[in-house]
Amino acid sequence: QKAAFGIIGMGVMGKSLALNLSGKGISVAVYNRTVPGVEEQVAERFAEENAEQPLLPFSDAEAFVQALEKPRRILFMVKAGAAVDALLQQFQPLLEAEDVILDGGNSHYHDTQRRVQEMQALHLHFLGVGISGGEEGALKGPSLMPGGPKEGYTQVSEILEQIAAKDKDGLPCCAYVGPAGAGHFVKMVHNGIEYAEMQALAEVYQLLRFHLNFSPETIVEELQSWQESGLGSYLLEITIDILKKQEAGGLLLDKILDAAEQKGTGGWSTTAALELGASVDPIAAAVMARYLSAQKKQREKAAALVEIEPMQIEGVPLLHAQQLKKGYEAVRVVNHAIGFELMRQASEQYEWGLNLSEIARIWTNGCIIRSQLMERLVGILKTEVPLLQHDEVVSQMKELLNSWKEIVASGLKANAALPVFSAGLNYYLGYVTAQSPANLIQAQRDYFGAHTFRRVDQPLDKYFHVEW
Ligand code: NDP
Repeated sequence: QKAAFGIIGMGVMGKSLALNLSGKGISVAVYNRTVPGVEEQVAERFAEENAEQPLLPFSDAEAFVQALEKPRRILFMVKAGAAVDALLQQFQPLLEAEDVILDGGNSHYHDTQRRVQEMQALHLHFLGVGISGGEEGALKGPSLMPGGPKEGYTQVSEILEQIAAKDKDGLPCCAYVGPAGAGHFVKMVHNGIEYAEMQALAEVYQLLRFHLNFSPETIVEELQSWQESGLGSYLLEITIDILKKQEAGGLLLDKILDAAEQKGTGGWSTTAALELGASVDPIAAAVMARYLSAQKKQREKAAALVEIEPMQIEGVPLLHAQQLKKGYEAVRVVNHAIGFELMRQASEQYEWGLNLSEIARIWTNGCIIRSQLMERLVGILKTEVPLLQHDEVVSQMKELLNSWKEIVASGLKANAALPVFSAGLNYYLGYVTAQSPANLIQAQRDYFGAHTFRRVDQPLDKYFHVEW
């Protein structure tokens, strides 16, 4: 009896996905490399620990490939980068035309575009599959963002849809996203939005605790009321749990070093935006905030030199908390708007034909940025109108803007750094400004570099230069 599906890489994600598949009655062949000198056979031990599941373990590549039904369907669940190319080198000679390789890691979309072409030349289908949901999502149902040759996708669609999370209508949170690279691009933007959403929550926590003097218990109560009044999201939910976690009579959070780490996808979103000429201010600000946080020693030294202390925001804390809630609602809309705009621009540039509403739909469950807002965006993004120009969003933002400005101004005055709250606000104010000061930039460029400029009183295809 051959296995219907193969997984290479028995790490956190590979194991959870194998159990998800086998739990659905799908037979899975599992493979992990063996490192010379290390006795442990990871795949074999995993299968032993889950003996009741239809798992076939291998540490021999050839035997693993031979154990699969044709056309073979093999998911790589390994570290992104060189490991994926090394595996392709190793496995491609063992495969046959029409076999499908899925890369479920967080690979860079440019690498995926290249690999799709390389594999196409060998008549193999290579799919880049964005996977979100972490260990638990992988086990119970992740959000899946497959991209690559459509013929390859049709060979695996049934299985992927079976293991994916389900949306509120029972439809799988898995949809063919687009051609080569599109799946990993979409996953990258998912993570970019995730960075901005996480940093926005960190700023909310900082303001409530250190500038509005809320106790951790009161912050939990406050955030719980947000969770129940339209701002519900997975990230807010876990933030509330984190703020409840005690250790030795104190908050565990207070024992965690404030130096954020990252694996790169937020930075890649920022680089992609630079390449495409898109503005992603709050995403970039969230990435930079992590870098700055990691400079712990320098920050401590500078804090001692400058002697800046967190100050209380003047006025009634509960009123400020209401402003903060509205500001948080507003900045989230902007975080999402720029993420979807980045995908729209990439789709245009690469001719991917991305369906933004469908992408929002597969992000409504299983993934880290699932939220009530995402549910709303499914409908809003069905129209061609940019998110921030949609009627419903325009009136929402009009209602929120003053509170957002107030809380950013008060927070900055009280010495709180608010990278995402303020970058989002700057972006938004820039976006709704019809007359920007960029005419001065153009004049300066022409002054020192004869770069020319266009005139508002002349046809826009004409360029002018003057002797300043
Ligand atoms: P782990 O570190 O738990 O596992 C990595 C796996 O890759 C191990 O099985 C490891 O084998 C294998 N591996 C590493 N290098 C090589 C190589 N050169 N050749 C063959 N195999 C190799 O990682 P995760 O399971 O967490 O992540 C896997 C991928 O999924 C990554 O790209 C990650 O970014 C992505 N991802 C992770 C998520 C998460 O929440 N953890 C969510 C979504 C995507 P060995 O044990 O022998 O070292």
